[in-house]
Amino acid sequence: MLRFISIPNKFRIRQVRFIASKAIERPHSQAFYDDKITTFASKPVKPVTLKQLVRFGQPPLSNESLQACTEYARTELPVRLARRVRAFQSLPFIVGTNPYIKEIYSLYYDSFESLVKYASPNATGDDIEFTEKLKDFVERHSDNIPTLARGFLECKQYMNSQDMARFLDDMIQARIGIRLIAEQAIALMHQKDSKTGGYIGIIDTQIKPDQLIKQCADFVGELCEFNYGESPEVIIDGHIDTKFTYVPVHLEYILTELLKNSYRATVEHHKKMGRTTSLPPIQITISQGLEDISIRIRDQGNGISDDDLHKVFEYSYTTVSKAAEDAENDPSNIFRNITEMAMQSGVGGPLAGLGFGLPLARMYARYFGGSLTLVSMWGFGCDVFLKLRHIDDSMAEGLEI
Ligand code: ADP
Ligand code: MG
Repeated sequence: MLRFISIPNKFRIRQVRFIASKAIERPHSQAFYDDKITTFASKPVKPVTLKQLVRFGQPPLSNESLQACTEYARTELPVRLARRVRAFQSLPFIVGTNPYIKEIYSLYYDSFESLVKYASPNATGDDIEFTEKLKDFVERHSDNIPTLARGFLECKQYMNSQDMARFLDDMIQARIGIRLIAEQAIALMHQKDSKTGGYIGIIDTQIKPDQLIKQCADFVGELCEFNYGESPEVIIDGHIDTKFTYVPVHLEYILTELLKNSYRATVEHHKKMGRTTSLPPIQITISQGLEDISIRIRDQGNGISDDDLHKVFEYSYTTVSKAAEDAENDPSNIFRNITEMAMQSGVGGPLAGLGFGLPLARMYARYFGGSLTLVSMWGFGCDVFLKLRHIDDSMAEGLEI
């Protein structure tokens, strides 16, 4: 004990980092890839503008632009993946030994290994083979956020919350960029042979937000019915004929998270008050401005108290366990399976429980220069304002991913 205390602080931190990287090292000798990771992680990231991503796929799609996009993915993804591997290796020892975190670390390590082979100009393997690898990569990483969230939930007491938030901010921000690059390369490879409507790769130039809202509301409605046995009605109004250019999977993600929160709050509050009237509707208003598209989601789920309001954008902040506790004392026991739901990641993920919905939705909104703001009227309900910038030619120039 005394010896430990006498070690100078600076040295102790280095020691802990070193052990952490050993703790999550693979079972086999990985010297070859470890060296490669060091080399690639030290290369600078080459940001691409969104406009460039669109330009890669501007019709008529030429072989040159397709090749430029694949080339960019081949060289850029290993650099970005190596940096993620390094970030995991710098986590504190005990955090690195958590099985969920270890699992995602291995996933990044394996993905680096599988894609780095295609990075050099004279690399073996053609573009079709590379695209197949990319598909596998995207698929394998599709569900890694809930796993990471679970890992960090278990490690809450071992890491200072600011360091954890910084790690997760960087990780998730980088993940969005990595997926955009990979998915654009995959989509353009397929675009070569088919008609794509308003799509340029994964960017849709004709998104109809009212339709996307309906789809997400149907999905969340089903989750809600499954979980609580009922779900509120959704009313969509405002500029319902709006069309704009955006990455639909991002918008879908944001809307689903916001709707899950509003549905849950509406049903839980209603039941808590013992009301027998029908559930109050969730009102969603679309507005098309010159530079922005705004979407307001208004619910009557009782809102959030001033004491809790500042915490809702923190990672892992959730009131689900509290709701589950209340449920234990509730004779109808309708809430009992929330925690169970939260711990599984069934189709479409759980309705709530990991505390990642709002921080992630806000990160997606901000990614292309938008914003997400939550206003609470404690005792009545919440308004969430989502503002997204049009991704048209003039705007997209300065946006780097
Ligand atoms: P989760 O839904 O997994 O709990 P979120 O980040 O989506 O995580 O939300 C964090 C918390 O913020 C929720 O647990 C809930 O207490 C509160 N919250 C979010 N949206 C609403 C809303 N519309 N009405 C009431 N409370 C909300
Ligand atoms: Mg949520």
